[in-house]
Amino acid sequence: MIVRQKKLKNEKQSRIAFFKALEGIRNDFTWKDCLHPLASSEECSTKVIGAHTVRRSADLKKIAEEGHVYKLSTSPVNLFNNNGKVWPELVGIKEASTFFGFCQKHDTETFKSLEAHEFIGSPKQCFLLAYRPLLKEIYLKKSSIKSVKTIRNSFQSLPQASSPFIQHFLDTLVKGHKSALIDLERLRTYYDECHITNNFNSMRSVIFYFKNPTNFVCSGIRQPEQDFNGNLLQNLASTHLHLDMITLSIICINDISAAVFAWHQVNDKSCVKFISSLLHQPLEKIPIYIFNFSIESFENHFLRPSWWDQLSNSRKNSIIGKMGKNTLLELLHRSNENYECIDLKHWNLSNIKYVNFSV
Ligand SMILES: [Zn+2]
Repeated sequence: MIVRQKKLKNEKQSRIAFFKALEGIRNDFTWKDCLHPLASSEECSTKVIGAHTVRRSADLKKIAEEGHVYKLSTSPVNLFNNNGKVWPELVGIKEASTFFGFCQKHDTETFKSLEAHEFIGSPKQCFLLAYRPLLKEIYLKKSSIKSVKTIRNSFQSLPQASSPFIQHFLDTLVKGHKSALIDLERLRTYYDECHITNNFNSMRSVIFYFKNPTNFVCSGIRQPEQDFNGNLLQNLASTHLHLDMITLSIICINDISAAVFAWHQVNDKSCVKFISSLLHQPLEKIPIYIFNFSIESFENHFLRPSWWDQLSNSRKNSIIGKMGKNTLLELLHRSNENYECIDLKHWNLSNIKYVNFSV
């Protein structure tokens, strides 16, 4: 009887600790600060807003139905809401894709060329498409480091918390986040310089234009580990801190769409090989390669609800199964990808534009 009571008490303590941690983690991912390079109490407006990482009017509105889109996310909150399963959540476009990383004044000023003007593939617009996911990633890494501290504090009263395995796991997690943050902050200095000087000559972009509208939009940054032929570009497990990074944005442009890759010239070494390997794929396969890369690499996708709803369960599960699977093993699988895995026949390549880059 005493053993049973002790077990029930432990279970109750664990549940309380879990909900306490969940609440704390929510707060850790919603802190407010302005990441503009000139941010200060004098320069910033008082209000830090929910800045969009995917353009609200130009992208989210285009794929929204009744003001809502599906958000695909593996965040702890999303997993909790879906009983541990990754599944799209219906969200209003006001809330979709936001992070509290800009004051109102600096968000409006910085992204005006992207938000208030049609996308024409200018160097500045391509830079801005890359700048936002970089800053959001910095925000997320800082949030993740905070959340590990929250987890430690929430579970410290539980006997399991002293387990060397759990402590080692949390230590490794923090070490990884801190290492990535150093890398991101270093890259940020180059991006900030482009921003402040309004000179984008050191930014490269390749824009893939598609004849038709897209049913999904995304924005993200990634260290390309291998090219599209399976050749290793850089070892992500290396203690070498300066990993090259590339961004991808899938956007709407009136009745067509585009996928925009962008990187800074300091990241040429891996990014040029990565993009060149994509450009050498058969043209009809490029859309599926881009789609797979985005699903495997990023957690910032928004989907047209009716498009997702009409997919068969096997196609839905195939997409969900790819999330976060950007590994060498997946790459080998990707090169033999069944083209019918996801129906992208509506997404036909029409043109490729190079910005500050030639092949
Ligand atoms: Zn500001």
